[in-house]
Amino acid sequence: MDLYSDEIAYLAHYTKHIFLVALAWLQIRNFLQEKNLITEEEKNQIDTLIINHDQSKKTPEEWIAYARYFHPKGNMSKQERKKSFQKAVAIHKQRNLHHYESLREYKGPDYKCYLIEMVCDYIAMGWEFGNDLFSYYDKKNETIDLPFLYKEYLNEVIETLKHPSMKGIKEPFSFKRVLSQEKNMP
Ligand SMILES: [Zn+2]
Repeated sequence: MDLYSDEIAYLAHYTKHIFLVALAWLQIRNFLQEKNLITEEEKNQIDTLIINHDQSKKTPEEWIAYARYFHPKGNMSKQERKKSFQKAVAIHKQRNLHHYESLREYKGPDYKCYLIEMVCDYIAMGWEFGNDLFSYYDKKNETIDLPFLYKEYLNEVIETLKHPSMKGIKEPFSFKRVLSQEKNMP
């Protein structure tokens, strides 16, 4: 990959997203298990998914388009950037089961793990862009097209996460808050 400084700068955005997804997972993992929404095996599998979250963004066909979108180059029009970004997003969604566009075709017994990875992605994006999981989900609910069983499980997870002990999901992100909560995690 021939990298320009703008594409290296995108590393900060990418790394922050991966880190926030991991922090989102840390906040909810024990709670979801307590509520019997995931088993010990599923928890272990999700640990692995979270560690590898969005790895495909490191391929040139995704990385360069994402980088140009977040760090525009002077000689690219807004329209060009948007077009290349949309193309990269489509490739990304095809390759990753944590996006409902791919997950809806998936028939594996571990579909819940990908749904939880998707929820962590939404929590992280809420922290990044100020649109929390619950309001985002309310807005997107109709478009999130998944098999009935998958959607039913997803709705239950989202409802359960409205518990007062999970209020950090809705609060603006701060490293200080998350790290102090982390100390209390079993
Ligand atoms: Zn993704």
